[in-house]
Amino acid sequence: MAYTNTVLNRARARLSQENERKRAEYEDHLARAYALQPRLRELDRSLRSTSAKLAALIFQPEGDPRAALARLRAENEALQSERQWLLDEAELPDGYLDDSPVCTLCGGTGYTGSRMCECLCEICRQEQKRELSALLPTGRERFENFLLEVYPERFYPELGTSARTLMQKNLNFCKKYAQEYRPGAQSLLFSGATGLGKTFLSGCVARQVAEGGHSVAYVTAGKLFADWEAVKFERAEADSLRDYRDCDLLIIDDLGTEMATQLVRAALYEIVNARLLAQKTTLISTNLNEHDLEDRYGGQIASRLLGSYRVIYFLGDDIRRRKQTAGSRTVRQ
Ligand SMILES: [Zn+2]
Repeated sequence: MAYTNTVLNRARARLSQENERKRAEYEDHLARAYALQPRLRELDRSLRSTSAKLAALIFQPEGDPRAALARLRAENEALQSERQWLLDEAELPDGYLDDSPVCTLCGGTGYTGSRMCECLCEICRQEQKRELSALLPTGRERFENFLLEVYPERFYPELGTSARTLMQKNLNFCKKYAQEYRPGAQSLLFSGATGLGKTFLSGCVARQVAEGGHSVAYVTAGKLFADWEAVKFERAEADSLRDYRDCDLLIIDDLGTEMATQLVRAALYEIVNARLLAQKTTLISTNLNEHDLEDRYGGQIASRLLGSYRVIYFLGDDIRRRKQTAGSRTVRQ
């Protein structure tokens, strides 16, 4: 699983904090236990020494070690039971002096061999959700919050459908797509006028895909191009583009609202092309149609997008305006 650098660094930092917290708690508990029962410190010292002697006997046996082994084991058991008795007497709760690592599978390192341990995976999932929640515009981007009733039922003879029917199909498609998402899934292009719910629906896809344990980066086209330009003109480290390159699903919102410069065209070509070659999924939302895309970014980019992406058309009146006039439901979609 390719989590973005930002998410991975935050997750590793949290795991290391958790390790430190557990260690500090153990040391604090130990100090309190020693203060209550000073004999415990002595017992712990003796236990460490008998354990070392036991290990030495097991790994480097001399002569017949059985008698020595039995004696050391008995000594060890006696020390252990005295220790437990002292702890009980001090009325310390069970596990008070537990010094096991935060995760017994990986010892708190986050990795078992070269594989990421489930403990670090779980923290990555949480950090990914937190990252997306901070980036998405409304915080409500979930399929169940998508309001179909704001799309008109009026039939468009030239299109052979109504906005409501088309959006119902789009919603069903996106829900299934996000639920069944696997890295390398086909890229999507949301095309339609401003205010038809493209950003909202792409946010729903982002959340669902992230909840499936995949890495998702969400960025507006304006910010993406600004970041790309900063790297090209060496105002920022190349690393700042890593998240856009490495994530399983990159969502580029609002393509077409930025200034269409030569640099923007170069950036868009490079990003779209690199992700297609790496078989990474991209979801672009734009208020441009096929002709506008070609006029604005050139035939090469337009044919890349239209040839490799699945285009999802958005239809309807501006739903933000419709909601305002509806009065009671003023939720932004
Ligand atoms: Zn672990």
